[in-house]
Amino acid sequence: EAKAESLNGPHYFDYYLMDKLHKRINIEKKLPRAMAEGEFELHYQPKIDTSTLTLTGFEALIRWNDPELGLVPPNNFIPIAEDTGLIVQLGEWVLLEACRTNKKWQDAGLPKLPVSVNVSAVQFKHPQFVHMVQSALEQTGLDPQYLELEVTESLLNTPLFIMEKLDSLQEKGITLSIDDFGTGYSSIYYLKELPLQVLKIDRTFVRETPSSIRDSSLLLSIIQLGKSLGMTVLAEGVETEEQFNFLRDNGCDQIQGYYYSRPLNQMSMEKLLNSDPS
Ligand code: C2E
Ligand code: MG
Ligand code: MG
Ligand code: MG
Repeated sequence: EAKAESLNGPHYFDYYLMDKLHKRINIEKKLPRAMAEGEFELHYQPKIDTSTLTLTGFEALIRWNDPELGLVPPNNFIPIAEDTGLIVQLGEWVLLEACRTNKKWQDAGLPKLPVSVNVSAVQFKHPQFVHMVQSALEQTGLDPQYLELEVTESLLNTPLFIMEKLDSLQEKGITLSIDDFGTGYSSIYYLKELPLQVLKIDRTFVRETPSSIRDSSLLLSIIQLGKSLGMTVLAEGVETEEQFNFLRDNGCDQIQGYYYSRPLNQMSMEKLLNSDPS
């Protein structure tokens, strides 16, 4: 925003802000109705094992199909849903939908793999969160070992009750992963103490690898950190063969990214599972 001001002057800057504000108000007004009308859907992005190239699971990613705005990406409405508190309800829908779909696929004889669901910090801190997860599993009949929850680093530097929640989720058999690793401020102490099984390296570390020596060595250090902590390490945003080879050759367990597959709609994910040999 500061850049827009210096390049284009305060006049442009005002319009830019106004436009942003209008868009925000518009989305804020529409979200509750979108919930009621069922305008959300989940897409799924495969995760693959770097040494066997087989599917290890898939991440549920929300999409909003607004009749006027078209397909709205999550970064444009999740932060608003967090501010208004609607994320609690929306997050519950995501969890139910992801568990229901995974269970449906398993019942149809497709490979049994974990589905991962993104959980925002606001949602995680809700007093009923653990209960809500338990109830989603019961309602859908999905075995907890096929559910993974992705939390972000911002959650980690918070009080002890977070630890208790993570512990009780893990005790149920749910896998916990830390998303966008490297963009927040998690201390190694918390990484060591909390029951987190998967470390997902943010795609900003992958983007310039291997061309940037600095980024490549940072990436290497993060992989080693994760392995030292006994975690499964996954790299996000892998787009090229060079990136993939670098990660595989340097001990990264899994990848996610356009190199293997973009997020798929339900039908395409189903087709992929159908063709999976595992
Ligand atoms: P995330 O959890 O880190 O998800 C990965 C994002 O990177 C997804 O964007 C995915 O489409 C994108 N991506 C995957 N592979 C590549 C690649 O090779 N290159 C590039 N450039 N991008 C790639 P998406 O679907 O737009 O989601 C953005 C963020 O919105 C997610 O980041 C997550 O933080 C949030 N989000 C998505 N769905 C949900 C949800 O159901 N609940 C909550 N609380 N947040 C969600
Ligand atoms: Mg994620
Ligand atoms: Mg991520
Ligand atoms: Mg990310």
